[in-house]
Amino acid sequence: MLQSIAIVGAGQAGFQVAASLRQEDYTGRLTLIGDEPGLPYQRPPLSKAYMLGKTDAEGLLFRPRKFFDEHDIAMVSGRAAAIDRTNRHVAMADGRTIAYDHLVLALGAHNRVLPVPGAALNGVFGLRTLADAAAVSQRLADARNVVVCGAGFIGLEFAAVARAQGCTVHVLELADRPKARAVSAETSTCFRKAHEARGVRFDFGEGLSHVEGRDGDVTGVATTSGKTLPADLVMVGIGVLPSVTIAAEAGLDIDNGVKVDGDLLTSDPAISAIGDCASFPSRHADARVRLESVQNAADQARCVAARLMGKPQPYAALPWFWSDQGDMRLQIAGLSQGADATVVVGDRAGRQFSVLCFRGDQLLAVESVNKPGDHMAARKLLGRMPSLTAREAAQTGFDLRAFEAASRQ
Ligand SMILES: Cc1cc2nc3c(=O)[nH]c(=O)nc-3n(C[C@H](O)[C@H](O)[C@H](O)COP(=O)(O)OP(=O)(O)OC[C@H]3O[C@@H](n4cnc5c(N)ncnc54)[C@H](O)[C@@H]3O)c2cc1C
Repeated sequence: MLQSIAIVGAGQAGFQVAASLRQEDYTGRLTLIGDEPGLPYQRPPLSKAYMLGKTDAEGLLFRPRKFFDEHDIAMVSGRAAAIDRTNRHVAMADGRTIAYDHLVLALGAHNRVLPVPGAALNGVFGLRTLADAAAVSQRLADARNVVVCGAGFIGLEFAAVARAQGCTVHVLELADRPKARAVSAETSTCFRKAHEARGVRFDFGEGLSHVEGRDGDVTGVATTSGKTLPADLVMVGIGVLPSVTIAAEAGLDIDNGVKVDGDLLTSDPAISAIGDCASFPSRHADARVRLESVQNAADQARCVAARLMGKPQPYAALPWFWSDQGDMRLQIAGLSQGADATVVVGDRAGRQFSVLCFRGDQLLAVESVNKPGDHMAARKLLGRMPSLTAREAAQTGFDLRAFEAASRQ
C-alpha cells in the first residue's frame, strides 16, 4: 500500500478523491492541500442558490470539519508552489514540504480575464470562488444596471439572478447565439427567448471594448460597435483556463490542461491529474477533451481512488452536466462535439423538450430542457452506446424514456 498520498487542490475533485480513498479503506497518510480559505465547498450554487440568498457559505460545504478529523484527512492551507518529482515532495509557498508516494493534482481552472481598459474598476467581477460570489452578491444588492460579458453558462445563470433581483440586464456575446460552443441551435434559441421574455437584453456579435468609471467605480461599458451602456455591475463570464503552472514547471506534459492517459495518470506515473485541470482521451468523444463539470471532477476522483486501492479501471464515465437559469433547467448527457444532425422530441413551445444530437447514425448527446426524465433515460442509454438513428428518433410519437426501457429488454 502507498504510505502517503497528497492532493493539491481542495475543490470538487480534490475533496472527492480524499473522501473516496477513505471510503475504500485507505489507511495511509492523506493530505489535502488547498489555497482557498475554509473547508472545501461546492461551486455550482455560487451562481444560483447562494447568489439568490437561498443558501449561505456553510450550506455550500461538502462536509463539516469533523468529517476531516474523523477520516484523518490532513488539511493543509496554502499554495503549493512546486513539485519536486525526484524527491517526491510538494514545496509550499511558505516553505513547508509535503512528502508523497503518489500525488493527485486537482488544480481546477481560473477565469479568463478581460484585457480591456477599465477592467480593474470596482464593480467588475468574474465568478469562480466563494470570495468572488460574496463580493458580487454584496454589490448586486444595490445594483440597478448589470452588463454581462459572455453568454456562457455562468453569464446566463447570473443574468437570470440579476434580473430576478430587479436589475436591468444586458448581455454582450461575440458569437451569434448563447452557449454557441456548448449546445445545439435549438437549445440556444429556447434559452435566448426565455431570458428575453423575462426582460434580459442580448447583443450578439458584440464584445466589450472598455469599461468606464468614476472615482474607481464602474459606471458603464463601451461595446465593440461603439454603443455605451450604463452599468454599476459588470460580470465577465468569458470562460476559464486550466490551472497548470506547477505541473508545467515540474516538466509534466501539458495539452490544454495537464495531459493524462486513459487511467488519468500524467507523464509521471507517481502523479495523477483530475477535474477541470486535466485533459484526457475520452471514449465518448473519440478525442482528447478537458471537461468543466461536477460529474467529471467527481467521477475522475473516484476512478483514481479505485486505482490507488488496487482496482484499476480506465476512465469511461459518461459525461453529464446541468445548468439552472431562472425556472429553466438544462441537462446534457454525452458530448455533442461533431454532431451533424439534431432531432427535437417533446414540447418545444412549452419549453419541455429534448434535443438528440447525432453524428451519422450515432447518438452522441441529449440536451434536455425541463425534462429530467428524458435526461435520466439518456444517461442510461448513452452509457450502453445505443443503436438509435436520427430517422427513428424523428418518427411521430417517439418517446426517449420508452425507447430506453425497451432497449433494456
Ligand atoms: C459559478 C460556477 C457555477 C458552476 N455551475 C456548475 C453546474 O451547474 N454544473 C456543473 O456540472 N458544473 C458547474 N460548475 C463547474 C464545477 O464547479 C467545476 O467543474 C468543478 O468545481 C471542478 O472541480 P475541480 O476540483 O477540478 O476544480 P475546483 O473546484 O476549481 O478546485 C480546484 C482548487 O484547487 C485550488 N488550487 C489550484 N492551484 C493550487 C495550488 N497550487 N495550491 C493549492 N491549491 C490550489 C484552487 O484554488 C481550487 O480551490 C460551476 C462552476 C462555477 C465557478
